[in-house]
Amino acid sequence: MMTSEMSSGPPGEKSPRRGLMLVLSSPSGAGKSTIARHLMEQDKDIVLSVSVTTRGRRPSEIDGVHYHFIDQPAYDRMREHGDLLEWAEVHGNCYGTPKAPVEKALAEGLDVLFDIDWQGADQVAKAMPQDLVRIFVLPPTMKELAARLERRAEDRPDVIARRLANARAEILHWRDYDYVLINKDLQTSLEKAQAILYAERMKRARTTWLESFVEELLTEA
Ligand code: ADP
Ligand code: 5GP
Repeated sequence: MMTSEMSSGPPGEKSPRRGLMLVLSSPSGAGKSTIARHLMEQDKDIVLSVSVTTRGRRPSEIDGVHYHFIDQPAYDRMREHGDLLEWAEVHGNCYGTPKAPVEKALAEGLDVLFDIDWQGADQVAKAMPQDLVRIFVLPPTMKELAARLERRAEDRPDVIARRLANARAEILHWRDYDYVLINKDLQTSLEKAQAILYAERMKRARTTWLESFVEELLTEA
């Protein structure tokens, strides 16, 4: 569980800092949504960006929680009005990140977690490079990736086949990311993702309160 010592404020306090944008990408089934969910359960200073999608809802998904499920005309309107921070077509469906909730969370000093593909990560990197931290999640083997998609049992066989066929092309983008996690043991992957988040929060450029802390430190008698 997150403690105040890990929240990267001055000793003993929680202090305003610049929120960061944490992107998790992976081929479908490698485990990024599972890692994202656990990260947020452990830490109240990070919120999930809920994307819009034209994909059909899976049985376990809740509208407004996992995605905002919308139709193509509504998606096209959001794009045309500039309401999306980034967007992409993935596995034959359209996805996008609503801009307003991200801006609001960052302004409140919260971190934002994005479960988006490499095309979206690329667009955010161009728009807001200083705020972005990118993690790519790899499966331990391609066989295990297929097994996880089967075990998840939420997609039709043809959808699973399409996702597996796309996996190799997605994996080729691993070099664009700051960190790569090979998600073999889930608990180990979670601990590594948390370690990345804590360290990135402590980067000097994000700990804006340090200026006044050091100034005060040096005036101490
Ligand atoms: P993604 O979001 O990358 O498509 P999910 O998070 O939905 O993938 O994970 C796909 C399936 O694999 C889920 O059933 C999840 O419970 C399982 N899973 C995730 N990480 C692991 C792991 N380290 N070991 C075994 N199964 C895992
Ligand atoms: P799924 O259909 O399995 O939920 O997601 C399929 C792929 O679309 C995943 O790689 C996921 O990260 C990506 N994705 C989900 N939402 C967005 C989004 O808003 N933008 C982009 N670019 N990709 C997204």
